Amino acid sequence: MSFQFDVGVLAVQGSFAEHMQILSEINCPAMEVRSQKDLEQVKSLIIPGGESTTIGKLVRRFDLIEPILGRASEGMPIWGTCAGLICLAKDLGPSDPPILGLMDIKVQRNAYGRQIDSFETAIELDSTQGDPFHAVFIRAPIIVSIGPNVEVVATIGQNSIVAVEQDQYLATSFHPELTDDPRFHLRFVSKIKG
Ligand code: GLN
Repeated sequence: MSFQFDVGVLAVQGSFAEHMQILSEINCPAMEVRSQKDLEQVKSLIIPGGESTTIGKLVRRFDLIEPILGRASEGMPIWGTCAGLICLAKDLGPSDPPILGLMDIKVQRNAYGRQIDSFETAIELDSTQGDPFHAVFIRAPIIVSIGPNVEVVATIGQNSIVAVEQDQYLATSFHPELTDDPRFHLRFVSKIKG
């Protein structure tokens, strides 16, 4: 199959326009994805921040779950930011069924509580990634636990995990699309082969 675009940004709800903007700034060919036909044109997929329940409903309504899972099983890289991370997680706790369930992470939604439900802070990246990253959290989920194949990419302080990688998947509980530091976008693009 020949794909026309390196990155597809799931564009059913949330901050897809901001991802498109930063991808254009790093000269990465990208398109908005709303249908199975769109998905067939992209090598990878970003699921943006927004409202995960709404994104889950729309992805189901647009018959995108099976096609995304099919492409994932063939190795398509997928990156979820915030609500997108929630869409990727296998375990959302007892009251919420998983949406795509591709990453071996347990996540608690809206976990930072009302007082600090939105905040910005510098996060520590693993040693290969350079300076701390200025991260924007908006009603962010917490990654409660990770499976043995999941690698920690970034933390707040020593303990709180806010970015993880597993095989071809990347997930961040913050929004790199809302700052002008393209390091996470470049990291994701480097996963795309061919
Ligand atoms: N709280 C949202 C949810 O549960 C995620 C927020 C975000 O993507 N900024 O879906």
